[in-house]
Amino acid sequence: MSASSQRVIEQYDKYVMNTYVRNALVITKGKGSRVWGLDGHEYLDLFPGWGVSGLGYNHPWVMTAIRGQSSRLIHLSNNYYHPLQAKAAKQLAELAFDGKVFFTNSGAEAVETAVKLTRRWGQAPPPNGATGSSAGHLVGGRGRYEIIVMERSFHGRTMAALSATGQPKYQRGFEPLVPGFIRVPFNDLAAVEQAVTPKTAAVLVEPIQGEGGVRMADGEFLRGLRRLCDERKLLLIFDEIQTGMGRTGTWFAYQHGGVAPDLLLLAKTLGGGFPIGAVLAKRSIADVLTPGTHATTYGGNPLGCACILAVIEAVTKQQLLERVNTLSPYLVTRLTALQQHLPIIREVRGLGFMIGIELTVDGRPIVDACRAKRLLINCTQGTVLRLLPAMTITKAQLERALSILEDVLTHHAGTRPASAAQAV
Ligand SMILES: *Cc1c(COP(=O)(O)O)cnc(C)c1O
Repeated sequence: MSASSQRVIEQYDKYVMNTYVRNALVITKGKGSRVWGLDGHEYLDLFPGWGVSGLGYNHPWVMTAIRGQSSRLIHLSNNYYHPLQAKAAKQLAELAFDGKVFFTNSGAEAVETAVKLTRRWGQAPPPNGATGSSAGHLVGGRGRYEIIVMERSFHGRTMAALSATGQPKYQRGFEPLVPGFIRVPFNDLAAVEQAVTPKTAAVLVEPIQGEGGVRMADGEFLRGLRRLCDERKLLLIFDEIQTGMGRTGTWFAYQHGGVAPDLLLLAKTLGGGFPIGAVLAKRSIADVLTPGTHATTYGGNPLGCACILAVIEAVTKQQLLERVNTLSPYLVTRLTALQQHLPIIREVRGLGFMIGIELTVDGRPIVDACRAKRLLINCTQGTVLRLLPAMTITKAQLERALSILEDVLTHHAGTRPASAAQAV
């Protein structure tokens, strides 16, 4: 490692809280699917920013939006109006479903907003003039607050988002958790039905669990949830923070299955690298949050909204959904072919540019070996390699990534099973 890299890492050790598992790599520049390290090497990144750089690092249209908007107005208090927030909200509603948006700064904050909105909706009397029958979903005032969540889900690290997350390993040591989250097995409609009580207000689910190992919700499960939520007057909330904005080949993953949620949570790719999140709620539900009930100082600032608009424009005009839908079958076919002669690959699954490769062995040494060959990928749940390539990646770059991955996996084919390697 270079002396300058060493110096940066020493300063982290001394001054930055040690909350992340960090790789010994200092990165100073990125473009598209490539990043450059202080070690002088170029890396190919198939997991750019945990899905944040879904358009690739420093997409030129996002850069232009930031340059232009930062010369006019970076931040504006939400007590005033700004044309770009109006435009970004309108475009999200047009892409997903008719409703209203609350902008946040992160995914976890979008989850917190959804939890607060759900509690208001389930408990507070309806706002003036809106009654249960005339306002459809708006049936407040019943003392309902419980949210049914899925095992192995991931919703973020702030207290309510952490409490909603279905993985005890993240919650240990942070008790008491926020009450009111009822955990059931993923893809088990009967379990959800059984968990509904007079206190239930909502069901929260990721259409594809990312952190939980790239596990897809069955179409039948999502349709069943929609039916159940309609019958029992519950809110259906889709956390599409990782799957949204084109990652799976449609704007939102739920559009593959055809059932829409009542609340849609977005972040990550939404800002093209700029931190911004959003909650889109159906109109009648959104109206339970009245002036003074919820706020955020930075959320929806003009700079962030300019980024959202640049992302939407790029996905649309550069036909990135089509790119994902063209290149994803190629990626999956190559990986599936590899599975035929490498028994350490247990399963290849996913949708669009959200791919999980489940191994029979611990995935972390493979991630490290790929990095040594200048390819960056992720491993989750101990044995699942996760690829979240940028929608702008070229076929040549995908080919290079695949050949490195093939080399590394072939080399590790003799590794002992994950059970012996104590996977987490
Ligand atoms: C990343 C993620 C979050 C949390 O978002 P942050 O911006 O890190 O707070 C929540 N839900 C899902 C599905 C995610 O992938």
